[in-house]
Amino acid sequence: RTVYLNGEYLPETEAKVSIFDRAFLMADGVYEVVSVLGGKLLDFDGHLVRLKRSLDALAMQNPLSDADYLEAHRALVEKNAITDGLIYLQVSRGNPGDRDFAFPSDDTQPTVVMFTQSKPGLADSPAAKAGIRVISVPDQRWHRRDIKTVQLLYPSLAKMEAKKAGVDDAWLVEEGKVTEGTSNNAYIIKGGKIITRELSHDILHGITRAAVLRFAREAQMAVEERSFTIEEAQGADEAFVTSASAFVTPVIEIDGKAIGTGKPGALALRLREIYLEESLKNAR
Ligand code: PLP
Repeated sequence: RTVYLNGEYLPETEAKVSIFDRAFLMADGVYEVVSVLGGKLLDFDGHLVRLKRSLDALAMQNPLSDADYLEAHRALVEKNAITDGLIYLQVSRGNPGDRDFAFPSDDTQPTVVMFTQSKPGLADSPAAKAGIRVISVPDQRWHRRDIKTVQLLYPSLAKMEAKKAGVDDAWLVEEGKVTEGTSNNAYIIKGGKIITRELSHDILHGITRAAVLRFAREAQMAVEERSFTIEEAQGADEAFVTSASAFVTPVIEIDGKAIGTGKPGALALRLREIYLEESLKNAR
């Protein structure tokens, strides 16, 4: 693979970052994941807006212009001949040359990394057709989940819990209510109404979430932004998750209980179609 590191395109084996990099020592970095379908970038502008929001929230410099980010994404798609896949982008507070809790001085350059992951047929994944099964686990993450930091140890542990339980993913629960999935936003549908947790510091403000809710409202579907319990989700007609890499993916089982018919729900599948169709229209 050809990857991007601080303005250079390099073979992945030659892209090296310091052991003092703040992302390595302190998880002091933020990231974005953009999907590529047919060589085009989905929801690119939304991901860039959130990147800048994450950087601002952590008082981190933004090292590149919007045009630079776009150019680098397109260059990586081309250099790696990506048709379908993902682009990972990370900006860290850089390398202060030593370990210290206090932020380094402003002349420390952020470290910018981008790389591709080729995923042929990303939009026709088996998970979308079969639906996924989830378990619930306590949400033990920090309390600024709206900032997309590289601090992913707890979601990683939760994912391993799910694997150990023989299912696909975990839904995180705090004070009795679902916050979100390990790497996606969580929804239920009851009586035709789409229910998903309202935006706050408790969840990541999903770019796919924003698009899906907009398309749902445009299609005259009812949307309610509020939290829900696992019990309510188990009694729902349908459930699904959204993320840049999963688009809209039906959830068919929660903690061993089948949702609705136990098959991917019709509305969730319809939302997936609408999302793919509409976001491809504006893909870059
Ligand atoms: N919630 C969490 C915790 C995530 O990690 C992600 C994506 O990585 C999402 C939600 C979905 O966000 P997006 O739709 O912007 O990919």
